[in-house]
Amino acid sequence: MRISLRYKFIIAFIAFTGLLTITFGMVATQRLSSQLKTQYERHAAQLAQQTAEDVLESQIFAVGHDLKLLARNLLSEEVFYAQIVLDGQVLAQETRYDVDLPVTSEPDRLEMNEITPSYQPPYLDLIQPLEDAVDLLAQSGHTLTPEDQKRVESGIHGYVRLGFSLKQRDQEVQRETLLLTALGLGLMVLGILLAWGLYRAILGPIEQLSVTVRDFGQGKTYVRASVNSGDEIEALANEFNTMANAIEYQRDVLRRTNEELERANRVKSNFLATMSHELRTPLHSILGYTSLLRAEVRVKLNDSGRQYAKAIERAGQHLLILIGNLLQFSKLEAGAERLQLVEVRIAEVVHEVLESQRPLADEKGLRLDAEVEPGLTLQTDATKLKQVLLNLVNNGIKYTAQGGVQVLAESRSGYAYFAVSDTGPGIAPEIQATLFDPFTRAAGPDQPGDGVGLGLAVAKRYVELMGGSLSVESEVGRGSTFRFSLPSPKRTA
Ligand code: ADP
Repeated sequence: MRISLRYKFIIAFIAFTGLLTITFGMVATQRLSSQLKTQYERHAAQLAQQTAEDVLESQIFAVGHDLKLLARNLLSEEVFYAQIVLDGQVLAQETRYDVDLPVTSEPDRLEMNEITPSYQPPYLDLIQPLEDAVDLLAQSGHTLTPEDQKRVESGIHGYVRLGFSLKQRDQEVQRETLLLTALGLGLMVLGILLAWGLYRAILGPIEQLSVTVRDFGQGKTYVRASVNSGDEIEALANEFNTMANAIEYQRDVLRRTNEELERANRVKSNFLATMSHELRTPLHSILGYTSLLRAEVRVKLNDSGRQYAKAIERAGQHLLILIGNLLQFSKLEAGAERLQLVEVRIAEVVHEVLESQRPLADEKGLRLDAEVEPGLTLQTDATKLKQVLLNLVNNGIKYTAQGGVQVLAESRSGYAYFAVSDTGPGIAPEIQATLFDPFTRAAGPDQPGDGVGLGLAVAKRYVELMGGSLSVESEVGRGSTFRFSLPSPKRTA
């Protein structure tokens, strides 16, 4: 379960104030009740002593107190029984309730027991020995005559017993406890209010800043933090705003640059497509007429005339491949290339490619052959497959001086596997990585030989479009092999 910082803060604060209030309340109640207890006990003891002195005055010094009256006068809200015992005889006894007060042995000094009966509030049972009161009398300045002294020495045995109700004390404790509880609750409410205030002052700005940062991260780049706490958080918010402004400015610059680049790219692609198209049409007529010339259908040519016608045709063929690649590349760039799937007989495609390239190979005295698995067919785009093989075979012938070029096509574990190998100069490993980039030539743009560095770029993208990937394996001085595999081959009879 995730608890937000706000609730953690408030819970911690309430727990803290609650604990503080309870501890304070408990200590205060404890102290108060013990203070009250002492106070009441002292009061009760004084009363008992006073009564004992009165009894002594009446009995020993013959002052003339009526003991029964004395006992009756003692009864009040607080004192609910009074008993005077002398030499084991009850001289006077008054009670407000029916209580059993058996005569007990006389204690040495004032005895005080708190008794808590189940049917009434607690009370103090006090037994004040009369003998003890003689000393107290002397201490309070009462001068004993020798006669009195003699009477005292002859022995005074007796006590005064009082029942002192603690009802009032309990009520007072209850009242004070109630007051302290109310005070504690008030403190807790104050604590909550204080926690809320502190939260708003400290965590409020942090929360606001974090909401702004989150919104900014989610793409609302126009949001800014507005924190006025006048502290480090406000400084942080200002830093964030400065950073957001810088990012937005950079984004704007990038967007504009991107738009310009896109426009320039569109213009370039359009230019390429239009130019290639326009160049191809007259080229086809040149090639057509040249082949007519060479076939000597209408015109008789001498040897040099035939040579010239052959040269024109070769240059035208090359130009056709170049323009074809340019056109295909610009279409690929524009994302306008689509696959046109048909059932392709691989042997036929390979044969067509080899036949179109054979004059070039013958001219250089190179072998050009193929090994195609009989009956291998593929559901793919025939034109694109042909173009890939054409580019690879054409390169093979173009860059090989001795030996030859070989095409291999066979099915391998669910794929149609193609390889075009040559015995040419090979390609250095450091160049192989960028070989398939457009307008890249192994020895740079000034590399001798025809070409602009588009053949492999087009071949690679076509292979990918057909669901495969084109790779090269080459060793300098020993030749190169270009390979690719295409899915869903079939074998027909
Ligand atoms: P182009 O042939 O028009 O220069 P390509 O994209 O077809 O462009 O080839 C790129 C470069 O790769 C070539 O310039 C050449 O240096 C190198 N290359 C391609 N095929 C071969 C090959 N069979 N043997 C050696 N180098 C090759």
